[in-house]
Amino acid sequence: MSSNRKRMIFFTLSLLLVTAMLVNACGGGDSEPAAAEAPAEEEAAPAAAEAEAEEETEEAMAEVDLSPSEYPEPQMIVGSRAVEKLPLDQILTYKALDSYNEPEWVSELVAEGALPPVEERLPVEPRVILASGMADGIGVYGGVWRDFSACPTEGYNRGAGQSAGWFGIEAAAFASLLKSGPIYRRSDSLEPLPYLAKSWEWSEDGYELTMNILEGAKWSDGHPFTTEDVLFTWEDMIVDPNVQSPKGASAWIFDDQMTELVVIDDYSFKFVFPVAFPVQSLFQMDEGDFHISPAHILKPIHPKYNSDMDYVDFEASMPPDKTPVVLGEFVPVEYITDELMILRRNPYYWGVDEAGNQLPYLDEVVFEKGPSGVGRTLSTLAGSADHSNLENPSTFIETLKRAEEDDAHFYVEWGPETLGFSIKLNLSTTLGVKDDRDAAVRELFRDVRFRKALSFALDRDGISQSILRGPFLRGWAGGLFPGSSYFDRSTVAYYNHNPEAAAALLADLGFEDTDGDGTLNWPADRLASGENLVLALVTSEDAEETQTVGDAAVTLLGDLGVQINVRPLNSAARREMNEAGEWELRVDRDSQTFAVPFTRCRELAPIEREFSFHREGSEPRELLDFEQELVDIALAFCVEPNTDARKDLMAEYNRISTENVHFVGVFVGRYGLAAAKRFKNVPAGMPVFMYNWTWENVMPEQVWVAPEEQIEQLRPGVIPTYESE
Ligand code: CA
Repeated sequence: MSSNRKRMIFFTLSLLLVTAMLVNACGGGDSEPAAAEAPAEEEAAPAAAEAEAEEETEEAMAEVDLSPSEYPEPQMIVGSRAVEKLPLDQILTYKALDSYNEPEWVSELVAEGALPPVEERLPVEPRVILASGMADGIGVYGGVWRDFSACPTEGYNRGAGQSAGWFGIEAAAFASLLKSGPIYRRSDSLEPLPYLAKSWEWSEDGYELTMNILEGAKWSDGHPFTTEDVLFTWEDMIVDPNVQSPKGASAWIFDDQMTELVVIDDYSFKFVFPVAFPVQSLFQMDEGDFHISPAHILKPIHPKYNSDMDYVDFEASMPPDKTPVVLGEFVPVEYITDELMILRRNPYYWGVDEAGNQLPYLDEVVFEKGPSGVGRTLSTLAGSADHSNLENPSTFIETLKRAEEDDAHFYVEWGPETLGFSIKLNLSTTLGVKDDRDAAVRELFRDVRFRKALSFALDRDGISQSILRGPFLRGWAGGLFPGSSYFDRSTVAYYNHNPEAAAALLADLGFEDTDGDGTLNWPADRLASGENLVLALVTSEDAEETQTVGDAAVTLLGDLGVQINVRPLNSAARREMNEAGEWELRVDRDSQTFAVPFTRCRELAPIEREFSFHREGSEPRELLDFEQELVDIALAFCVEPNTDARKDLMAEYNRISTENVHFVGVFVGRYGLAAAKRFKNVPAGMPVFMYNWTWENVMPEQVWVAPEEQIEQLRPGVIPTYESE
């Protein structure tokens, strides 16, 4: 072991001590935001509230400026680049080229008779990645991508719900009809990109969607891919209730009626919908939702066709130690339980570059296995992994420090602003309400003046800086994330730090410190007892940043005479509390709904009974007028086929949401990408998480490494092989 290597390990171990426990996130995605420890060494800046302001009379109210301020442009962080958005036809196309190429070592296998010639392995019109959409242009063959997975590999029967190990393994090995990950690169539309399905067309009435798949593409064992595979995936995996497919039939039910899939010929089929233009369904055809399963492998052993099989055996029929038949760029050829997975290039992959080079460029992908997601960051810092996602602000500084050292093999780049934290107010009039005080609190929360007062109270810059100094985090008004493709800065009503305005609004609501103990008292017409205004705020034990926000709220609202009691809960307790509706204020790390609203359109407003902060209990929910407007917009948005019209709807949504302070945004930051410097064609400004995670976003087939920078492969010359039938 070199001394350099020893130093790395020492560095790694010391980092372990300061890095928070990361939650193992095997539930989905290539990883999920995990909890982290945030240094809270600095108190949030005390509010400059002037005690005198509270004593001012109503005449003073007229002089206080209660208008929102302009929401600023984001600060670009050094080393981050804007995404270069392009229309789809400059990123990829489907067409036949005059000739095709492959790595020399693959040509040797062809000469030996181990593989058919490349033109016979490719479809009639391969998927062509265009040079105009490549960050570094057409690449060269060879190279390895070393990564890390902290989830067990159950097996490769993805369509039956098995996990191959997440962290990018699914993305590398499996293929779906459409692909959502790279939508962030599109300037022409916010629809998924074509993948195995190369084009689609709605009927005039919007009830039928005809889809055309690649003609002549082949599975990794050379078997043709046709609509038989699509139909099998639909009927016997997605629709069959005995198969635990990642997305079940319910996603395809509209107005209580099931969508139908009708095969037209080997390369085209159509969906027949019970409603017109359910355009959101395109997002049910993408990675994770509609991975195609191999009919020629699985149909003969599916319990519906084979009475010797049951569904348990069927699910386990593609075990981790047996090379699976797949459609993805890379094929798992070797697996050592909990240690290592080696994937090699799929010689039948159906994509090429403009020069006719069959993709991928890389020969090999290796996933080191470990018990916890923190291992990915540690391995990247230590030099043994080529990629990590930075999703916990508390790890940012250590990673950046290492990246700046001369011998670091990786760089760090920051994505769009989609990592947001906010304070929610429980808007239900009944659920969880036990007494007069609870009822008065909910009525108060439903008054826009109080929500604005809360927003005006927050010193967002102070809070951001206390969590992480520097340009990484900044204030957020609520509404859509600034990093969303649907975000329009001009629609934001930003009620930022203005203690005078907050105090004036509280006075206008009738609150006054009648007993002089420093805390405002309820006015008698709101709560007869006239007790002090004391509110409970729940934070999350699993996300230290929420506790920093809670601590700041105690100080900032305390200065205004509002007493906040903070209660940290773990995620299980929070879930229980939310279901019972027994909470007042809550600090959340917000979901991707506000980044990619179209894929989660029904979560934008209280449409479902389970809506996060206005949940329906046994009594009907009383929506506020503006909430009803948000519901109407969200419902129209879900079925709006036109991208520009969708953007208009989201502009209106964001205006109404922020003007009414539907919830109180606190701060927003960026996820960071740590990636090997030797990787070429990683798109500029690529988000770690938008519609999907890194491996889906990068388009791994286009990543290449210059020959002088290529590192040794573990299994040079190996292609996936299968026992003959
Ligand atoms: Ca008092």
